[in-house]
Amino acid sequence: MSNSEKEIIKVFTGKSHYDINIGRNISQKAFEEILENYNDFKIAIITDSNVERVYSDFLQKLEKNDRVFTLSFKAGEESKNRKTKEILEDNLFELGFGRDTLIIALGGGVTGDLAGFIAATYMRGVPFIQIPTTLLSQVDSSIGGKVGIDHPTGKNLLGAFYPPSKVYIDIDFLKTLPNEEIINGIAEIIKAAIIQDGQLFNYLESKIERVINLEKGYIEKAIISSLKVKARVVEKDEKEAGLRKILNFGHTIGHSIEILSNFDIPHGRAVGIGMAVETLISEKIGILKLEEKERILALLKKSKLLDKSFKLSADEIIRKTALDKKSRKGVVEYSLIEGIGEAVYGINVEDKIVKKSLSEIGFL
Ligand code: ADP
Ligand code: ZN
Repeated sequence: MSNSEKEIIKVFTGKSHYDINIGRNISQKAFEEILENYNDFKIAIITDSNVERVYSDFLQKLEKNDRVFTLSFKAGEESKNRKTKEILEDNLFELGFGRDTLIIALGGGVTGDLAGFIAATYMRGVPFIQIPTTLLSQVDSSIGGKVGIDHPTGKNLLGAFYPPSKVYIDIDFLKTLPNEEIINGIAEIIKAAIIQDGQLFNYLESKIERVINLEKGYIEKAIISSLKVKARVVEKDEKEAGLRKILNFGHTIGHSIEILSNFDIPHGRAVGIGMAVETLISEKIGILKLEEKERILALLKKSKLLDKSFKLSADEIIRKTALDKKSRKGVVEYSLIEGIGEAVYGINVEDKIVKKSLSEIGFL
């Protein structure tokens, strides 16, 4: 893919479909296209305080158009709540936004989830466009249509399925992203490879450093391949009746770690550790070959996803998995792997196997 080329992936939903446009330096053009396609709409760009600061010149230029307004909130997961939603909705009404509103989410996963949830209910639903700016949101949360906010009881407990009208992925946004956030996104790329795309896994085994360094061509390939995995899975099972559960590989353990660390361990990192543990579980229950387990652990290590020490206790993590919103009546259903590129879901696992796997990875 050269500079000017862009790749388009179509995602089919129940009734229609939306396009994901991927390329470098495409956001200027994207906004021109949006202004034209939505020429009688008023446009609210919802963003967080960091993105607003880093891209202030870009936003100020856009705001020269009198149909365009930027609304921002304090960056961070702590803002993904009812209070922020209320303030942003109040802002929209004060600025006179009516039925002819287009909401654009410009930012990471927090922005996309929050702005999308506002779009889902504002005036009974207004069109919504995602412009994800973190690697994690570019490969994962900006597609699939899940939007929502957190509640003190848990993450993403208030939400909806509300697919975007379009997604623009501008790889150049990643240039300003801290390295830690890149690693966070790499975890979901590796997940996509492990569950559905053995070829991508082979590619990552030899090219992961180049992908992490955002080298031209390599990061594109990783993003596009993992988007295709996610797109294929969510179009077969939009509402998570079955197949979509394979996307939760690494997430049962990952979520517990994320919560128990009070979100000090960010999502991608927690999922990276979760994938290591769930890979061991898969091998211990006899569905995954030893050799494939070794390859997965090696790739996770090479990606710097397993290089911190863990202070959490295995028993606590296991207890927490039973409280996950995805467990049924306290029985935890794992999404595991039968091979690289072959995921299965709905598996019950004995606590003692989970515990053994956790301790092998280094939990107390
Ligand atoms: P995620 O996308 O990982 O789910 P966030 O939406 O919280 O989570 O984004 C992670 C952090 O990265 C936030 O502090 C956000 O402000 C910041 N951020 C998002 N995009 C960029 C960017 N392109 N450059 C620099 N910082 C960014
Ligand atoms: Zn995830």
